[in-house]
Amino acid sequence: MSINANDPSKKSWINTPENSDFPIQNIPFGVFLTRDDIITIGTRIGDTAIDLGAMHQLGYFEGIPLTDDIFLQDTLNDFISDGKKTWRLVRNRISEVFDINNETLQQNEDHKNIILFTLNEIEMQLPVHIGDYTDFYSSREHATNVGSMFRDPENALMPNWLHIPVGYHGRSSTIIPSGVPIHRPLGQTLPKGAEKPIFGPSRLVDFELEMAFITTDANSMGEPIPISEAEDYIFGMVLFNDWSARDIQKWEYVPLGPFLAKSFASSISPWIVTLDALEPFRTKSPLQDPKPLPYLQQEGNHSFDIHLEVDIVTHEGNRTTVSKSNFKYMYWTMSQQLAHHTVNGCKINSGDMMGSGTISGPTPDSYGSMLELAWQGTKPVALNDGTERKFIQDNDTVVIKGYCMAKGQRIGFGEVSTKLLPVFE
Ligand code: CA
Repeated sequence: MSINANDPSKKSWINTPENSDFPIQNIPFGVFLTRDDIITIGTRIGDTAIDLGAMHQLGYFEGIPLTDDIFLQDTLNDFISDGKKTWRLVRNRISEVFDINNETLQQNEDHKNIILFTLNEIEMQLPVHIGDYTDFYSSREHATNVGSMFRDPENALMPNWLHIPVGYHGRSSTIIPSGVPIHRPLGQTLPKGAEKPIFGPSRLVDFELEMAFITTDANSMGEPIPISEAEDYIFGMVLFNDWSARDIQKWEYVPLGPFLAKSFASSISPWIVTLDALEPFRTKSPLQDPKPLPYLQQEGNHSFDIHLEVDIVTHEGNRTTVSKSNFKYMYWTMSQQLAHHTVNGCKINSGDMMGSGTISGPTPDSYGSMLELAWQGTKPVALNDGTERKFIQDNDTVVIKGYCMAKGQRIGFGEVSTKLLPVFE
């Protein structure tokens, strides 16, 4: 089935600002609360939110096999479970209904009043119930930088790193949508030179510039997902800020990896951009040498050219872009991550979320964390208001944005924006 929704020549009758992340070619999926306090599944064109539950009730998805309440839910999990064929049919239909040449809904004021919302009439929610969350560590530049700082520049990568998409199981209960503030965490740290740990607020709170993909039910327990099929089970992607407390992390991470340093908060952008919508922006991933084991080998373009940037906005509202990176720098692809994740028979469910790991590029201005940008505090990052940062301060807001651009066509993810508040009292 072709992806008609991606047709770059298509225009919508909904006004779409120039350089919008959400032209009619995007059609992401999210969950929002409406002005009438109703939760529904929706999409977005330009700055207009579209209630898919209402559209379905009014018959706009006729002919597509969907249960009556598929969009009248507070998560996308059931819709994601319907599989790629259904996602594609629904996305194509939305694209038809909002095409500038289609007058059906365009001329129906009553229906438009029920279906369309301005962005200030809605409140975005977490789009999926995330049963399990896994975070990978798949940027070679990031792993090299961290390995150089914490261990040895000569042996920065662990011996397994070029053979395994390294990851750990994270905590899904503290994943939040953009706009929800978080508090500086408390924890144990070992001050420099000290022999015993102390307890108190983390002093080294950091962001991690990541993206995450969301899966559908992919396999039965015991059944690996072959790498050639892995992309069929990926619904879409979001921007992901994996908040990290570096001082807590440094003391706790041996030998089992991150624990409380990561589980206090992770934030995601609320609109899931489908893998289908990202098709035009496919690109190669870095050459893998040594060649991975056969179950991780693949041909062709399995990465995506997604421009990423991180802004720090101070309490007073002064904004500085501190990093510009790109998803295409990832050494391991999403299909390799998913194939590896399931090769032992681990079961993947609808709504599971897989973080990429911090996405650092090759140059110092493309690093994906303050740890690297300020190189462990030795090179403070200058902000536009004349202050500087080694890590994130109380009342700073971290904003991650991401978009694709090719042949004049842009689609994007919007942003994930999170304010760091002082310790909870
Ligand atoms: Ca991470």
